Amino acid sequence: MLLLVDLDGVVYRGREAVPGVPALLTARAAAGDRVIYVTNNATAHSSEYRARLLSFGAPYDPAAVVTSAQASAVWIRDNLPAVRRVLASGTPGLAQELAEVGFDVVSAADVAERMRAERSDGFGLAGRPDAVVVGLDPDMTYLRVAAAADCVRAGAVLVATNRDPMYPTEYGFRPGAGSAVTAIETAARTNAQADVGKPGPYLLEVAIRRAGSRAADAVMIGDALSDIAAGKAVGARTVLVLTGVTSAAAAEALTGDERPTRVAADAAELAQVLDELAAETVG
Ligand SMILES: [Mg+2]
Repeated sequence: MLLLVDLDGVVYRGREAVPGVPALLTARAAAGDRVIYVTNNATAHSSEYRARLLSFGAPYDPAAVVTSAQASAVWIRDNLPAVRRVLASGTPGLAQELAEVGFDVVSAADVAERMRAERSDGFGLAGRPDAVVVGLDPDMTYLRVAAAADCVRAGAVLVATNRDPMYPTEYGFRPGAGSAVTAIETAARTNAQADVGKPGPYLLEVAIRRAGSRAADAVMIGDALSDIAAGKAVGARTVLVLTGVTSAAAAEALTGDERPTRVAADAAELAQVLDELAAETVG
């Protein structure tokens, strides 16, 4: 089977491993399953997950992490072959992922610095980019929004890595990439042409393609309803784990299309569920 595994709330919670899950994934990989992590987080470069996953004892290889930053780069390459220059509105990790796919990347942070000094419009200072890709930017400023909006108003295609409105931290909720996307959409008076992350299918499609697998062999394991929606959107089976943002009561209350294939409270139940799904896969 191909296991498409969300990270936060499934493999770890912040700095701590979810008990038993890294070892379970390592055992499944040893038995022949392929493990690919799929995360909406577009702030970290995919290689930044290496140390954390290995320290928890989870399986890792350089191709094992698909972020919405990477998937956004692939989306542009596949759907807009004329795009050369891209404005990255987000962290250096987002800019690096876009550059690795071959785009000529300029960061909204750098353009904003020049706008402050040169009192010029963002599109020209950015070198007239063909696309703007938006991820979470914890250092977002008024001029960074202005830089991105200038480019979109001048004709650059707006791509959202994901539209998560917020995400949990140890301090409570913080604005997610969706909050940044909305700010730029409002200022540019244009909606994003693509929304790459979960709950849409594209992030998982990139992971399935990378694995050389097919949706019928894939199981999406996630703690949020957006993970389940994304899994269903590609035609994969889905397991909702109760180790993150979804409570047992909330899982119980799901109806119709919202319901996952299976629910697992913890690593032991997840092991059982995966054994059963693997038995169904045969044939
Ligand atoms: Mg999660």
